[in-house]
Parts: sequence; C-alpha cells; structure tokens
Amino acid sequence: MKNIKAYGAKSNDADLNMMEIERRDILANDVKIEIDYCGVCHSDIHQVRNDWGNSKYPVVPGHEIIGRVVEVGADVKNFKQGDLVGVGCMVDSCQECKSCEDGLEQYCENGMTATYNGKDEHLGGHTFGGYSEMVVVREKFVLKVPENLDTKAVAPLLCAGITTWSPLRQWNVKKGDKVGVVGLGGLGHMGVKFAHALGAHVVMITTSPAKAEDAKSLGADEVLISKDEAEMKKHANSFDFILNTVPVGHDTNPYVALLKRDATMTLVGAIDEVDIHGGGLIMGRKRLAGSLIGGIKETQEMLDFCGEHNIVSDIEMIDIDSINTAFDRVVKSDVKYRFVIDMKSLKN
Ligand code: NAP
Ligand code: ZN
Repeated sequence: MKNIKAYGAKSNDADLNMMEIERRDILANDVKIEIDYCGVCHSDIHQVRNDWGNSKYPVVPGHEIIGRVVEVGADVKNFKQGDLVGVGCMVDSCQECKSCEDGLEQYCENGMTATYNGKDEHLGGHTFGGYSEMVVVREKFVLKVPENLDTKAVAPLLCAGITTWSPLRQWNVKKGDKVGVVGLGGLGHMGVKFAHALGAHVVMITTSPAKAEDAKSLGADEVLISKDEAEMKKHANSFDFILNTVPVGHDTNPYVALLKRDATMTLVGAIDEVDIHGGGLIMGRKRLAGSLIGGIKETQEMLDFCGEHNIVSDIEMIDIDSINTAFDRVVKSDVKYRFVIDMKSLKN
C-alpha cells in the first residue's frame, strides 16, 4: 500500500482540497499508471455535490485519466512500462455475467466498479479517481491510447467520448442521417464531432445562441435554438436520431416532437426525472432510450477511430488548484468544451 497525493472533497458543500489516499500494491493482473492528465466531467460535480444521493466521502473524482505505465504485474500481457494509456469510468467488473461476456461491463449484473465512489474490493471502503498522482487498475480496464494525438485532449474521450460514441453506434447513425445533439457541453461537443465523422447531417440543438459559431466549427451543419418555438416547429418529425446530453431533469417532449416515425432519442445526461407525454411516443412509434458510458471493447474502438480520424476534444487546461472555480464554470456552461487538469500541478 502506498500513500499518494490526491484532490478531493470531504462533504457535499466543501471545496476540493489536497489530501492523501492509499493505492494498493500491484497484483499479478494490475497496471500501475502515473497520471499526466485528467478531464473534468459534469459527473464529477454531481458526485462531489451529492446530486445523485449516493456519494461517499471523501470524493476524489476523475474518470478521464491519461498517463504512462510505470509498473505491471507478473501476468500482464498487453502493457509494458512507458506505454501511453487511458482509464475511463470503470476499473473492474465480475467478468462472468452476460453483460460482461458481451463486452458491456458498464451494465455488469453484479455491479461494475466505478473509478471513483465505487466499492473498493481490495482496500475496503470506496475507490478514488484520477484527481491524483497515480492509480492501480486491472489490466482489462486499461485502454491503449493512440500516440499520434494531442495527449492532453485525449483525456475527455475516456468519458465524454465513449458516452456519445456508444449510442451513436448502438442506433446505427450513418451517412446522410439527420442527427440532433442536445446541449453543447463536454459530451455534446464530442457528439457533434462523432456524428459529423460518421457522415451524418448534424444539427446542434442548444439553449445558447452564442455557441452557434462554435457548433459549426465543431462539425454541425445547422444550429437550432431550442427556446425558439417557431424554429423547433420547422424541424418537427424530421430527425433520424437525437442524442440528449442535458445534465438535469427536463421536459423531453419538445425534442421527441423533432423525431421522425420510428426514430430514437437517447438520454445520457439526465440521471433524473424527465417529463414525457406518452402520446408523443405513441403517435409515430418513437423511442426514448438511455445509455451509460460504453464497454471496454467499444471504448478501445472509439480511441482507435479517433487515432485514425484525428479526433480529440476541445479543451481548456487548468492546474489542480483552479478546480473549484472550474466546477462553478462547468455548471454555468462556461467552458470550451472540457477542462483538463495538468496533474503535474499536484506535485508542486
Ligand atoms: P456540461 O459540459 O455541463 O454540458 C451540458 C450542456 O447541456 C450545457 O453546456 C448546456 O448546453 C446544456 N444544458 C445545461 N442545462 C440545461 C438545461 N437546464 N436545459 C437544457 N440544456 C441545458 O456537461 P457534460 O459533462 O457534457 O455532462 C452532461 C451530463 O451527462 C451530466 O449530467 C453528466 O453527469 C452526464 N454524464 C452521463 C454519462 C453516461 O454514461 N450516461 C457519462 C458522462 C456524463 P447549451 O448551452 O448548448 O444548451
Ligand atoms: Zn464522466
């Protein structure tokens, strides 16, 4: 066991501060990673502030982790010292249930182990995330990161990337489809990039007219201001797929009205109550779906796709001591479009 430096919150109304946490000694199947960068996901804020009512303190957030392998266990086959690697939202699962067999560890029937605030089977207590110097992770949950990309900007792919990639693939978004992405934040900006790269006609659906130009430069073909009822009406019944990243409970009916017959809207943001009128689904055989991150195999495919197509996130770099301000700015939608922490700043 080793004590290392981390940044976390001791309660739901406390700022994040420097603290010490323990990491296990590596086991035969483990990879030890020195963390270079960690993205700041809106989920980090939900967890620190206990928005979902299940937080365990202290919370050390961070599930968009990029680093270098510093040591591997005796049975590790796919990684060696010096490799550039990533860790996303999961660090373990049972590996025996149907979901794990299908490569969908995020839906593990025995409960996957979340990178932070999950049950720590080794040290007891709960897991601590990537706002820290180092992490020890079971090999199966470590991703290979293409070396040709800007490493800092790869970090958000580990959550924002896979969370948007997975539903776009699941619902078979393809060339020529009209795809809407609701909410231009960390997830939304990756949704736009991926839908564009898959050949779709992409419509950014936003509450913020000021983001229109950015949306277009990220790959949106059109921008639709969701508060403009007349414009929303013009797009009624025309979308093949909508990815909804709104981070809070909301009225989904105006978005469902945009779907074509038999089309789907997938929620990824609102882990919360949403309003839906059955009639909006029934008249048109429309579907409202949900999606949680993505499996390990699919995450590797997404990273490889990004390597081939030169796709990374748009980021603002920060030092760890700016994290509390960064949290407030994310809540105000004031970030373009993901904060990434330079974890070297934790050592200073
Ligand atoms: P974010 O950067 O804060 O972006 C959310 C965007 O949604 C905002 O930029 C804003 O875009 C829009 N928005 C905010 N409040 C809204 C409201 N009341 N009504 C309509 N639109 C609103 O957040 P993020 O990091 O992308 O995360 C989005 C959500 O996904 C969070 O709740 C996070 O916890 C969740 N999440 C889920 C998964 C999963 O596996 N399902 C994985 C990661 C994150 P505009 O200004 O363009 O309207
Ligand atoms: Zn996340």
